[in-house]
Amino acid sequence: MGLGCNQGDCQEHLHAALEGLAALAGYATLALSSLYLTAPVGKTDQARFYNAVVRGRYSGEPGELLAGLQAVEKARGRVRLEQWGPRTLDLDLLIFGELVVDLPELTVPHPRLAERGFVLIPLAELAPELIIPGLGLTPGQLWERLPAQERARQELRQIEWD
Ligand code: ATP
Ligand code: CA
Ligand code: CA
Repeated sequence: MGLGCNQGDCQEHLHAALEGLAALAGYATLALSSLYLTAPVGKTDQARFYNAVVRGRYSGEPGELLAGLQAVEKARGRVRLEQWGPRTLDLDLLIFGELVVDLPELTVPHPRLAERGFVLIPLAELAPELIIPGLGLTPGQLWERLPAQERARQELRQIEWD
Protein backbone atom coordinates (compact mmCIF):
# COMPACT_ATOMS: atom_id res chain seq x y z
CA MET A 1 0.00 0.00 0.00
CA GLY A 2 1.07 3.55 -0.66
CA LEU A 3 0.29 6.14 2.03
CA GLY A 4 0.14 9.86 1.36
CA CYS A 5 -0.86 13.06 3.15
CA ASN A 6 -0.42 16.79 2.54
CA GLN A 7 -3.10 18.34 4.72
CA GLY A 8 -3.30 18.72 8.50
CA ASP A 9 -0.97 16.90 10.89
CA CYS A 10 0.41 14.33 8.47
CA GLN A 11 2.44 12.31 10.96
CA GLU A 12 -0.77 11.92 12.98
CA HIS A 13 -2.86 11.01 9.93
CA LEU A 14 -0.31 8.44 8.81
CA HIS A 15 -0.03 6.85 12.26
CA ALA A 16 -3.82 6.67 12.39
CA ALA A 17 -3.80 5.09 8.94
CA LEU A 18 -1.44 2.36 10.14
CA GLU A 19 -3.75 1.67 13.07
CA GLY A 20 -6.79 1.71 10.78
CA LEU A 21 -5.13 -0.76 8.44
CA ALA A 22 -4.14 -3.07 11.29
CA ALA A 23 -7.78 -3.10 12.41
CA LEU A 24 -9.06 -4.35 9.01
CA ALA A 25 -10.30 -7.94 9.21
CA GLY A 26 -7.94 -10.34 7.47
CA TYR A 27 -5.14 -7.78 7.15
CA ALA A 28 -1.74 -7.69 8.88
CA THR A 29 1.16 -5.28 8.27
CA LEU A 30 4.52 -6.97 7.71
CA ALA A 31 6.82 -4.01 7.07
CA LEU A 32 6.81 -0.21 7.02
CA SER A 33 9.18 1.94 4.93
CA SER A 34 10.91 5.15 5.93
CA LEU A 35 8.90 8.34 5.72
CA TYR A 36 9.53 10.71 2.79
CA LEU A 37 8.74 14.34 2.17
CA THR A 38 8.14 14.80 -1.56
CA ALA A 39 7.20 17.43 -4.11
CA PRO A 40 3.61 17.06 -5.37
CA VAL A 41 3.18 15.39 -8.78
CA GLY A 42 0.17 15.77 -11.10
CA LYS A 43 -1.10 18.95 -9.52
CA THR A 44 2.08 20.75 -8.45
CA ASP A 45 0.77 23.95 -6.79
CA GLN A 46 0.07 22.45 -3.37
CA ALA A 47 1.88 21.50 -0.17
CA ARG A 48 4.57 18.83 -0.15
CA PHE A 49 3.46 15.29 0.58
CA TYR A 50 4.39 12.89 3.32
CA ASN A 51 4.65 9.42 1.76
CA ALA A 52 5.45 5.90 2.87
CA VAL A 53 4.79 2.33 1.75
CA VAL A 54 3.62 -0.63 3.81
CA ARG A 55 3.77 -4.29 2.95
CA GLY A 56 0.98 -6.44 4.32
CA ARG A 57 -0.72 -9.77 4.13
CA TYR A 58 -4.42 -9.95 3.26
CA SER A 59 -6.67 -12.99 3.26
CA GLY A 60 -9.52 -11.53 1.15
CA GLU A 61 -10.09 -10.19 -2.35
CA PRO A 62 -8.38 -7.02 -3.65
CA GLY A 63 -11.76 -5.29 -4.12
CA GLU A 64 -12.53 -5.82 -0.43
CA LEU A 65 -9.15 -4.45 0.54
CA LEU A 66 -9.77 -1.33 -1.58
CA ALA A 67 -13.08 -0.81 0.24
CA GLY A 68 -11.22 -1.14 3.55
CA LEU A 69 -8.63 1.44 2.46
CA GLN A 70 -11.37 3.86 1.47
CA ALA A 71 -13.07 3.41 4.86
CA VAL A 72 -9.78 4.25 6.62
CA GLU A 73 -9.33 7.34 4.40
CA LYS A 74 -12.84 8.49 5.23
CA ALA A 75 -12.27 8.01 8.95
CA ARG A 76 -9.39 10.52 8.70
CA GLY A 77 -11.68 13.13 7.17
CA ARG A 78 -10.67 12.69 3.54
CA VAL A 79 -12.89 14.67 1.20
CA ARG A 80 -12.50 14.30 -2.57
CA LEU A 81 -12.74 17.81 -3.98
CA GLU A 82 -10.55 17.57 -7.05
CA GLN A 83 -8.37 14.97 -8.67
CA TRP A 84 -4.84 14.92 -7.24
CA GLY A 85 -5.76 17.75 -4.84
CA PRO A 86 -4.76 18.14 -1.17
CA ARG A 87 -5.76 15.30 1.15
CA THR A 88 -5.51 14.24 4.77
CA LEU A 89 -4.95 10.66 3.74
CA ASP A 90 -4.54 8.73 0.49
CA LEU A 91 -4.22 4.95 0.58
CA ASP A 92 -3.42 3.31 -2.75
CA LEU A 93 -3.26 -0.41 -3.42
CA LEU A 94 0.07 -0.67 -5.23
CA ILE A 95 0.65 -4.38 -5.70
CA PHE A 96 -1.32 -7.48 -4.70
CA GLY A 97 1.01 -10.44 -5.05
CA GLU A 98 1.30 -11.54 -8.67
CA LEU A 99 -2.17 -10.32 -9.45
CA VAL A 100 -2.97 -8.04 -12.38
CA VAL A 101 -6.40 -6.33 -12.18
CA ASP A 102 -7.79 -3.95 -14.78
CA LEU A 103 -11.24 -2.79 -13.70
CA PRO A 104 -12.67 0.76 -13.80
CA GLU A 105 -12.57 1.00 -9.99
CA LEU A 106 -9.37 -0.95 -9.42
CA THR A 107 -6.14 -1.25 -11.37
CA VAL A 108 -3.32 -3.36 -9.88
CA PRO A 109 -0.40 -2.84 -9.98
CA HIS A 110 -1.20 0.83 -9.49
CA PRO A 111 -1.14 2.40 -12.99
CA ARG A 112 1.07 5.39 -12.12
CA LEU A 113 3.50 3.59 -9.84
CA ALA A 114 6.37 3.54 -12.36
CA GLU A 115 6.54 7.37 -12.57
CA ARG A 116 6.53 8.04 -8.85
CA GLY A 117 9.61 8.23 -6.72
CA PHE A 118 7.45 8.47 -3.61
CA VAL A 119 6.28 4.92 -4.39
CA LEU A 120 9.40 3.43 -6.02
CA ILE A 121 11.97 4.53 -3.42
CA PRO A 122 10.11 3.30 -0.30
CA LEU A 123 9.07 0.17 -2.20
CA ALA A 124 12.72 -0.48 -3.04
CA GLU A 125 13.48 -0.35 0.69
CA LEU A 126 10.91 -3.04 1.45
CA ALA A 127 11.30 -5.22 -1.64
CA PRO A 128 14.47 -4.40 -3.62
CA GLU A 129 14.32 -7.65 -5.62
CA LEU A 130 10.61 -7.52 -6.39
CA ILE A 131 9.78 -7.73 -10.09
CA ILE A 132 6.64 -5.66 -10.49
CA PRO A 133 3.91 -7.72 -12.18
CA GLY A 134 3.20 -6.52 -15.72
CA LEU A 135 6.28 -4.26 -15.77
CA GLY A 136 9.01 -6.86 -15.40
CA LEU A 137 11.40 -4.56 -13.53
CA THR A 138 12.32 -3.91 -9.89
CA PRO A 139 11.37 -0.61 -8.18
CA GLY A 140 15.01 0.55 -8.36
CA GLN A 141 15.22 -0.22 -12.09
CA LEU A 142 12.01 1.72 -12.73
CA TRP A 143 13.38 4.70 -10.79
CA GLU A 144 16.69 4.62 -12.69
CA ARG A 145 14.75 4.59 -15.94
CA LEU A 146 13.19 7.99 -15.23
CA PRO A 147 15.00 11.02 -16.65
CA ALA A 148 17.46 12.53 -14.15
CA GLN A 149 15.65 15.85 -14.39
CA GLU A 150 12.35 14.22 -13.41
CA ARG A 151 13.96 12.38 -10.49
CA ALA A 152 15.42 15.67 -9.24
CA ARG A 153 12.08 17.44 -9.63
CA GLN A 154 10.40 14.96 -7.29
CA GLU A 155 12.75 16.12 -4.48
CA LEU A 156 12.52 13.02 -2.31
CA ARG A 157 13.74 13.67 1.18
CA GLN A 158 13.84 10.96 3.84
CA ILE A 159 12.58 12.21 7.23
CA GLU A 160 12.10 10.70 10.68
CA TRP A 161 8.87 9.06 11.78
CA ASP A 162 7.61 10.72 15.00
P1 ATP B 1 -3.74 8.35 -8.22
O1 ATP B 1 -4.59 7.14 -8.50
O2 ATP B 1 -3.12 8.97 -9.44
O3 ATP B 1 -2.73 8.12 -7.12
P2 ATP B 1 -5.55 9.58 -6.36
O4 ATP B 1 -4.95 8.64 -5.37
O5 ATP B 1 -5.61 11.02 -6.01
O6 ATP B 1 -4.77 9.47 -7.74
P3 ATP B 1 -8.20 8.93 -5.73
O7 ATP B 1 -9.11 10.11 -5.83
O8 ATP B 1 -7.67 8.57 -4.37
O9 ATP B 1 -6.98 9.11 -6.74
O10 ATP B 1 -8.89 7.64 -6.30
C1 ATP B 1 -9.69 7.64 -7.43
C2 ATP B 1 -10.17 6.22 -7.73
O11 ATP B 1 -9.09 5.39 -8.11
C3 ATP B 1 -10.79 5.48 -6.56
O12 ATP B 1 -12.15 5.75 -6.47
C4 ATP B 1 -10.51 3.99 -6.90
O13 ATP B 1 -11.68 3.32 -7.27
C5 ATP B 1 -9.58 4.07 -8.09
N1 ATP B 1 -8.46 3.11 -8.08
C6 ATP B 1 -8.10 2.36 -9.16
N2 ATP B 1 -7.05 1.60 -8.88
C7 ATP B 1 -6.70 1.86 -7.59
C8 ATP B 1 -5.67 1.37 -6.75
N3 ATP B 1 -4.79 0.45 -7.16
N4 ATP B 1 -5.61 1.86 -5.48
C9 ATP B 1 -6.50 2.80 -5.05
N5 ATP B 1 -7.51 3.30 -5.82
C10 ATP B 1 -7.61 2.84 -7.07
CA1 CA C 1 -2.70 8.27 -4.96
CA1 CA D 1 -5.98 7.06 -4.01
